Amino acid sequence: MIMQSYNFFMPTKVIHGEKVLVTQAEQLAQYGKKCLLVTGKNSARLSGALDDATKALKSQDIDYEHFDGVENNPSLENVALGGDMARRYKPDFILAIGGGSPLDAAKAVATLATNPIAPKELYSGKFAEKPLPIAAIPTTAGTGSEVTPYSILTVASAETKRSFSAPELFPKIAFLDWRYTDKLPIHITRDTGVDALSHLVEGYLSRRATGTSDMFAERGIRLWAKCIPGLKKGELEPEKRDHLLVASNLGGITISHTGTTLVHALGYSLTYYHDIPHGRANGVLLGEYLRFTANHAKERVDNVLTWLGLTDIQEFSDLINHLFGSVVALDEKQIKAYAAKAMGTSNVGFSQGDVTEKVLNEILTKSLT
Ligand code: NAP
Ligand code: FE
Repeated sequence: MIMQSYNFFMPTKVIHGEKVLVTQAEQLAQYGKKCLLVTGKNSARLSGALDDATKALKSQDIDYEHFDGVENNPSLENVALGGDMARRYKPDFILAIGGGSPLDAAKAVATLATNPIAPKELYSGKFAEKPLPIAAIPTTAGTGSEVTPYSILTVASAETKRSFSAPELFPKIAFLDWRYTDKLPIHITRDTGVDALSHLVEGYLSRRATGTSDMFAERGIRLWAKCIPGLKKGELEPEKRDHLLVASNLGGITISHTGTTLVHALGYSLTYYHDIPHGRANGVLLGEYLRFTANHAKERVDNVLTWLGLTDIQEFSDLINHLFGSVVALDEKQIKAYAAKAMGTSNVGFSQGDVTEKVLNEILTKSLT
């Protein structure tokens, strides 16, 4: 009997290299003549990506308008504003520039542009009309959102972040250029970089991992390992910035197939209630997650450590501690509430081992008290 079967679907065209947005601007022409740019307040300009994008659009005679109001951890209300603008302007496609927040918001805007629904209905996962095509340009090396079908939005009524997804939400094309990440301050480089690591590690340790997703995870973890000295020191040379961006991309491809695990499920509460950046929220839980998972999949945890060039889990925890220091101290009531909230998510079910509320309680307690 064949023991393992798998589906593989990665419909995003990835173009990687310096200046590819400018040198391959003609790639954009296939998506139409009107484009809505979706960005945050500053990062698109700061990174130099907006300048390259407008040059590329002009060179192809593509008209554009700009929604530059995406907040960090975008809310349903925030993406609704972008949706309103898209319905007014009627673009043929969306060009998203930024970290995961603008990239995820763009997926919601692309859907609301063609479907006049209330933003909370995005979670139905079924849309009468196809979302607009999306071109994505990451300016952080972290989420891999440029190659995932996920959009993670803050839902205030549920006091958490929730993901919606659809196969059509994979961006059609992604331009990866490390230069756009070069001005990232070190604290954001670390936060976002650890999100990438978290995707790679959670994906590799997921119940849904396959030999195929493992290839992407292993390559990504090995590339990430080359960045450890720079991340610790607080300086990354161009080659390492590039490695981190590719590792993030490979992490996105991995979780598009495996999903994330209990780490992301718990991390959402740390972000929602304590404003801890997404990657840092995952990172501070990873050490205890590895300890728990080693009880069920020791060989896999050992592989992660080997690829990272680390000898044991303590060395991993020391690395995270070096990058973030002490992040937050939770009390018993908070721990109970966050564990209970995470239990309701599908990510928890993708983790190996029997993950009960007690297990989540223990992971939070050991990580954050
Ligand atoms: P982010 O929230 O997009 O950005 C964090 C901060 O970094 C913002 O202040 C942003 O400025 C700034 N920034 C971005 N690029 C910069 C640059 N090149 N130079 C200087 N500053 C820059 O952070 P993120 O970690 O990339 O994304 C986090 C979001 O992605 C969360 O909502 C998370 O849940 C989601 N996520 C999605 C997936 C997925 O598969 N779709 C996976 C993991 C996480 P601006 O405000 O000006 O933009
Ligand atoms: Fe993430």
